[in-house]
Amino acid sequence: MVHWSPLAFTLKNRSSWVQLAGHAGNFQAKEGGRLLKRYCECEQQCLNKLMTDSLRPYVPGYYGVVQKDEQDYNLMDDLLVGFDSPSIMDCKMGSRTYLEEELMKARERPRLRKDMYEKMVSVDPGAPTEEERAQQGVLKPRYMQWRETLSSTATLGFRIEGIKKADGTCNTNFKKTKQREQVMKALDDFVDGNVQILKLYLKRLEELRSVLEKSHFFKTHEVVGSSLLFVHDASGKASIWMIDFGKMVPLPPPMMLDHRTPWVEGNREDGYLWGMDNLIDILSSMLPQ
Ligand code: ATP
Ligand code: MG
Ligand code: MG
Repeated sequence: MVHWSPLAFTLKNRSSWVQLAGHAGNFQAKEGGRLLKRYCECEQQCLNKLMTDSLRPYVPGYYGVVQKDEQDYNLMDDLLVGFDSPSIMDCKMGSRTYLEEELMKARERPRLRKDMYEKMVSVDPGAPTEEERAQQGVLKPRYMQWRETLSSTATLGFRIEGIKKADGTCNTNFKKTKQREQVMKALDDFVDGNVQILKLYLKRLEELRSVLEKSHFFKTHEVVGSSLLFVHDASGKASIWMIDFGKMVPLPPPMMLDHRTPWVEGNREDGYLWGMDNLIDILSSMLPQ
C-alpha cells in the first residue's frame, strides 16, 4: 500500500527542493541553490570538519551559521540543484538509529510514554506486551529497540526513509520494508528498471565506500541517523551524497570504529559500512547478468 506523505512538497519560490524526512519546519530553501537547516551544534562541527576532509566531494558544501527570525540555521548546498525534476531517495544508514548516549539517557528516570505506545500500536497493533497494553505506555529504550527491528535497519544495516519520483509520487511509508526482496522491489521501482542509472549509483557507492574506509574522520566518529541521498533525473544524471550529521559524534581517543563489527552496547559500532556492503550487494544483484 502506498501512502502519500504531506512532508514532500515543492516550495513556492520556484525551487524544486523536496524534503523526504525530518520535521517540515526544520528547513528553509534559500535563493542561490542553498538550504537552511535548523541549527544543530553537532552537525555544524561535522560539516566544518568535512569541508577539509577527503569526504568533501560526498557531502553538501557548508557555509556556516546564519540567523533568520531569531533562529540559527546551518547554511548548505541544495544537492538537487542541477537536476531536472529529480527522483530522490533517502536511505538511512547503519544498524541502529540512536546513539549509545541516547539509550543511556532513555534509561535514566524511566517514564511510561503514551505517545510511543500509540506510535507502536499504529504500526503494529500486536507489538505491545500485555503489561504495556494495560499501562497504555512503553518505556523509551524498549520503543527505540523495537523500532529498529521493523525495518531493514537491524537486518541489513540501512533502511529506506523515503522516495520521491520524477512523476511527483512520493512514498515515505517504508517503516516495515524489511526483507531483502521488499527493499529490492522499492529500489527497482525507484530507478524504473534503468540499468544505466543503477550502474552510476553503484559506481558512486563503491567510490564512497573506499573513501570512507580510508577516512580518519569516519573512523573516529560514531555515525548514527545519517543518510545517503540518491538523486537522478531523466537526462541520465545520477549521484549520491551523505547528509544529516546531527548524530555523528566524535569518539574518545584513541577509540576507532570499523563500522562493520556487530554492535554490542559499549563498542559504539554503528554498522554503517556493513549497511553499505549490503546495499551495494543488493544493487549489484539487480544488474542483468
Ligand atoms: P531526520 O533526523 O528525521 O532524518 P532531519 O531534520 O535531520 O531529519 P535531514 O535528514 O537532514 O533532516 O533532511 C531531511 C530531508 O531533507 C532529506 O531526506 C532530503 O530529502 C532533504 N535534504 C536534506 N539535506 C539536503 C540537501 N543538502 N540537499 C537537498 N536535500 C536535502
Ligand atoms: Mg535524516
Ligand atoms: Mg537528522
